Amino acid sequence: VVTGGASGIGLAISQRLARDGAAVAIFDLDGVAAEAAASGITDAGHRAIGLNVDVTDRARIDHAVEEVAEQLGAPLILANNAGQASFMPFLDMSPEHFHQVIEVNLVGTFHCCQAVLPHMLEAGWGRIVNISSSSTYSGTPRMAAYVSSKSAINGLTKTLAREFGPRGVTVNAIPPSFIDTPMLRASAAAGDLDVQASIATTPVRRQGRPEDIAAACSFLCRDEASYITGQILGVDGGRS
Ligand code: NAP
Repeated sequence: VVTGGASGIGLAISQRLARDGAAVAIFDLDGVAAEAAASGITDAGHRAIGLNVDVTDRARIDHAVEEVAEQLGAPLILANNAGQASFMPFLDMSPEHFHQVIEVNLVGTFHCCQAVLPHMLEAGWGRIVNISSSSTYSGTPRMAAYVSSKSAINGLTKTLAREFGPRGVTVNAIPPSFIDTPMLRASAAAGDLDVQASIATTPVRRQGRPEDIAAACSFLCRDEASYITGQILGVDGGRS
């Protein structure tokens, strides 16, 4: 299961896990885009379905997970990638806005973990990869809600790694930095980010690609990564 899998990093993760041999269920707010992304994967000869799922809607998530179990088999890999960016001066931020960002980024991750984990525990094998953000290393002005939500995802990752490691489930996080996706382009277009300036200060001197995150996610989901859990694996061109 890849949440937010119809676009950007989630789409690259979906395509990569399918090439690795997984049957992929794409959960996305945009159901039409989720189905289109799944069609692209099946056209390439792999197994995928796309479902309209809002990660803040627990009843819908539970139903979708059952659909996945029926159509593709028990979900044993979960990439919690759905997320919402937010740039706003802290003093202008309403409590409602703060809650809403936490609800999508953090509580959405909580819901999906709780919905999928029983299948992993029954199988005695599971992989959870949470997409957080490199902004958690240092904090970022005007991103209080976002950075709070993503920092909590790192904490959730470490806690679940300890809680479920004894039962065959690894839980890791990848905090990306400056990956070329629709979200990043929209933030750059709105003047919230300066891509060229970030490239100039990135040790490898290029912008990240969604495939960079997908490659790390693919590795963490393999059997041979079974001794790696509770880690925050920066994929950021050396920025952190
Ligand atoms: P993206 O291209 O906007 O993709 C995010 C996807 O998540 C979209 O398809 C979006 O659907 C979906 N989504 C949003 N809210 C959702 C919800 N409530 N339920 C289900 N799906 C939802 O963004 P991206 O850059 O690939 O970001 C993927 C993840 O990486 C996010 O968690 C983001 O915070 C994180 N990240 C990205 C970067 C970067 O440089 N790009 C850096 C650090 C962290 P709609 O398009 O319909 O809203």
